[in-house]
Amino acid sequence: MRADTAYMSGSLLLRTSERESLPDSLIIRHLIFALIQQRHRHNMTRLPNIIGNWKMHGTRDSVRALLNDMMARLPSRPAAQFAVCVPAIYLSIVQEQLAGSQINWGAQDLSPNPPGAHTGDIAAEMLRDYGCRYVIVGHSERRTQHGEDNMLVAQKYAVAQRAGLTPILCVGETAQQRAAGETHMVIAAQLEAVLQYSGVQSLAAGIIAYEPVWAIGTGDTATPEQAQVVHHDIRQQIAACDPVVAQQLPILYGGSMQPQNAADLLAQPDIDGGLIGGASLQADSFLAIGGCA
Ligand code: PEP
Repeated sequence: MRADTAYMSGSLLLRTSERESLPDSLIIRHLIFALIQQRHRHNMTRLPNIIGNWKMHGTRDSVRALLNDMMARLPSRPAAQFAVCVPAIYLSIVQEQLAGSQINWGAQDLSPNPPGAHTGDIAAEMLRDYGCRYVIVGHSERRTQHGEDNMLVAQKYAVAQRAGLTPILCVGETAQQRAAGETHMVIAAQLEAVLQYSGVQSLAAGIIAYEPVWAIGTGDTATPEQAQVVHHDIRQQIAACDPVVAQQLPILYGGSMQPQNAADLLAQPDIDGGLIGGASLQADSFLAIGGCA
């Protein structure tokens, strides 16, 4: 296949022979182009993204029960595009149960390296092998508990995209940083690393989640006004590089989103969905948040 034909084909995955014969730069362009097409198809429906982050919860039995419950309660025409990002060890169960359904799935982290001698790590290609559409990168729990810095997160973002995954880039400030008036500066640096490493066009096929660290798992949700200010600021920062990308970029809010506060948050003009931790562990609360959209 000629290189330009492969690029224009719009198919998300290239055959191995195609991957081997094409230069890296063209493969990356191909994947971003295909992901943008996927985004356009998705945007036509204008559904907000409601994505669950199960963190390190579950057993084989509880995962099966939760998925069954979600499938049983999911309305035939949901008001949101749902997905769950699950512990990697349960991906096979999730793929088995969600394949062909209206719910997508993904992982919570990935290695910045290609498959090889990296004990304990999971490569982007392995996530694709289990049908993942999404992967979270730069969650604050990984930044604090595993020392992940902005450069490593930018590398993970790029590697995910290169494998055909949609990265969900988490950004957000701590309570101390907010109190010191550093929210804009902290988030600008988190975004800048990805902009420098992959370019603004990479955001045409990505998702950002604004997750104030002080709101995660605390019940101390950002007010709709607080969240909107930061979401707008994020969109402005991207717009300074490319207004079209900024306008189409889904920016999700994450941090103690519940059925009780979701409607007001999701009504804000720059909030395009939610990344949900605790409330995604029960089918009724997770789906109810989607019902608020
Ligand atoms: C999260 O960890 O991504 C999150 C938003 O958690 P919670 O909803 O529990 O605050």
